[in-house]
Amino acid sequence: MTLQEIAASLPGYEPESLCLERACAFIARALPPPSPARERLPLQALLGRVLAEDLISPINVPAHDNSAMDGYAFSGAELRPGQPTVLRIAGTSLAGDEPTGPLAAGQCRRIMTGAALPPGLDTVVPQELVQRPDGEHILIPADALKPGANRRLAGEDLARGEQALAAGRVLKAPDIGLLASLGQTEAAVSPRLRVALLSTGSELCAPGQALQPGQIYDSNRYTLTALLQRLGCIEVIDLGLVKDEPAALREAFAEGVARADVLISSGGVSAGDADHTKRVMADMAETGELLFWQLLMRPGRPLALGRLPRADGTAALLFGLPGNPVAVMVSFYALVREALLRLAGATPAPLAMLRATSLQGLRKKPGRTEYQRGIVSRAPDGGWQVETTGDQGSGILSSMSRANGLILLAHDQGSVAAGEAVDVLPFDALM
Ligand code: AMP
Ligand code: MG
Repeated sequence: MTLQEIAASLPGYEPESLCLERACAFIARALPPPSPARERLPLQALLGRVLAEDLISPINVPAHDNSAMDGYAFSGAELRPGQPTVLRIAGTSLAGDEPTGPLAAGQCRRIMTGAALPPGLDTVVPQELVQRPDGEHILIPADALKPGANRRLAGEDLARGEQALAAGRVLKAPDIGLLASLGQTEAAVSPRLRVALLSTGSELCAPGQALQPGQIYDSNRYTLTALLQRLGCIEVIDLGLVKDEPAALREAFAEGVARADVLISSGGVSAGDADHTKRVMADMAETGELLFWQLLMRPGRPLALGRLPRADGTAALLFGLPGNPVAVMVSFYALVREALLRLAGATPAPLAMLRATSLQGLRKKPGRTEYQRGIVSRAPDGGWQVETTGDQGSGILSSMSRANGLILLAHDQGSVAAGEAVDVLPFDALM
């Protein structure tokens, strides 16, 4: 579908005042399918990568019924209601010992946590529950436990043939441990998505250079690089900073189209901008596959979405983000992050949020989504509380740095009174 066709298919599509939800739905439809390519990587290289195939467990985990406690294993059939049980100790099983043969009636076996249960033994009494009248017997007090207690069943973690991990999963530490627990040394993952970054603006100066009058340092490329690195499945291609000059912009965009799956630019898409970025973007998307939006969100109103064609008939996706440093991060989170994960082959889950008590009143007009920088802390009652970092100007990068979460005020929501609960997106999941 062309972007125009997507626009026509989306009820209520209004580029000059587009709500965030509709913009996200639009972007989801505009994504090309993820690459079918795969690579196999060792366990140590899998963090953040996208699993490309379902992982079916080739074994039972654990492989044998085993003990959950240090104690004595016996058959639960020996227990009589209301009566103590006396059993004769027959040997010891340590974790890692080969499973032994069955025991005779009236016997038990000293057993350590994780050791395989001998056949027929289904119950473990923890050592602290038993008395040892002599060196050879244990006495279990009446009604101290039930048959089957303290046993881990073979396959209770994962049964052979069961799906352990689904394709599309962004691999995290426990997933990598799970792969190891199934005896795998590597996994098939999707290739990294190639994302090219460029900062636009004639006022920008690269860190390390002397700031000339009227200049500011380029920070967006570095926040974006870090946000992309955090995703784990992205190869960042840094196209540098580009002055507001058509030739330079054209060259940088062309390089991005040639080298990357996705281009992310910052700056030059604001409504009032008299600069060249928009025109160069439009020229690159010669087929008209370029849209400029004014979003009903704050910060981060302007956004360009495009497809820049390549010689081979494919296209690079373009996200033109606004230039304000805070708007860049918020737009990235709200509109770009999930799209990149999907393009990288992932099926991302929604980010978990906290519900926190707002320590102050928050002014908010219904009709746009707002993100305020918040500092979340423990409330005296043990719940969470949040206060804003103060001035919410979208250029105030230090406030983003001081914050540890974004307070999310939904589209239809109005002002919040002090003491009301609000949704907060903790940065831990994000930045
Ligand atoms: P623009 O979206 O180009 O109108 O830029 C909006 C504001 O963000 C202006 O004050 C710019 O100077 C600032 N800005 C743009 N790009 C960057 C950047 N890469 N790093 C820091 N500030 C920027
Ligand atoms: Mg600019």
